[in-house]
Amino acid sequence: MEFKKIQLNGFKSFAEKTNFLIEHGLTGIVGPNGCGKSNIVESLRWVMGETSAKSMRGSGMEDVIFNGTSNKSSKNIAEVSISVDNASHDGPMQYKDLDHIEVRRKIEKDKGSKFYINDKEVRARDAQMFFADLSTGAHSPSMISQGRIGALVTAKPTDRRAILEEAANISGLHVRRHEAELRLNAAETNLKRADELRRQQEKQLANLQKQAEEATKYKVKHGHYPGEVVWNGVPRLTILAMATFPNAQKK
Ligand code: ATP
Repeated sequence: MEFKKIQLNGFKSFAEKTNFLIEHGLTGIVGPNGCGKSNIVESLRWVMGETSAKSMRGSGMEDVIFNGTSNKSSKNIAEVSISVDNASHDGPMQYKDLDHIEVRRKIEKDKGSKFYINDKEVRARDAQMFFADLSTGAHSPSMISQGRIGALVTAKPTDRRAILEEAANISGLHVRRHEAELRLNAAETNLKRADELRRQQEKQLANLQKQAEEATKYKVKHGHYPGEVVWNGVPRLTILAMATFPNAQKK
């Protein structure tokens, strides 16, 4: 599988639709300060499912939308799509048969982000998983932005492990394991809650059984249940609940 093209539209400094062709052998982007190199790398991380606005150098995710210049008005939508060539059919299992895959992320002011794979809306997690299965992603060490080379050299062994895992093509498995662990934790929490509810219900049941016994004893002795109004020897009306109002009593 090969990344072929990134298309930006309304993303950061790229107000108009801009195509970046990723030709064979491209390994980096150089250019003068402020020309938008980091914005391109960020667009790649963003379409791969980045969730941190801070790592996009913004205070909220909507900050990635073109916010206008002195001669161009701001936009309401930002869109980034990445085209992947799958002619070798070695992509993730569910897309194996497709020759071409396009992953797109769109953010609209006040509406949040949406992800699409080949124009079909998917969950953020599906897009993240797609890239994890390709051994890359928003936090992949294979994408090196300014200042990160030093960080990689001095990285902790656990962080270096991520590089080796990616090289071994098992990043996708790690994401799946993490998801499975989250689901397991959620199931355990539900189980604990269900157990707590069961204990509460058992307590209530014991209480009701006790009340029923007392009511039966009362009926044997008096011929009717407590709270029943008897008319001509026949129970007519049952007062089911009697409320007391502590505040009213105080007065
Ligand atoms: P440097 O080498 O200095 O880090 P760079 O080439 O990496 O620069 P970027 O940081 O990618 O450049 O781009 C910076 C430019 O993008 C700035 O001019 C900034 O005003 C512009 N920019 C960032 N976000 C937005 C936005 N939401 N709307 C419009 N312009 C933006």
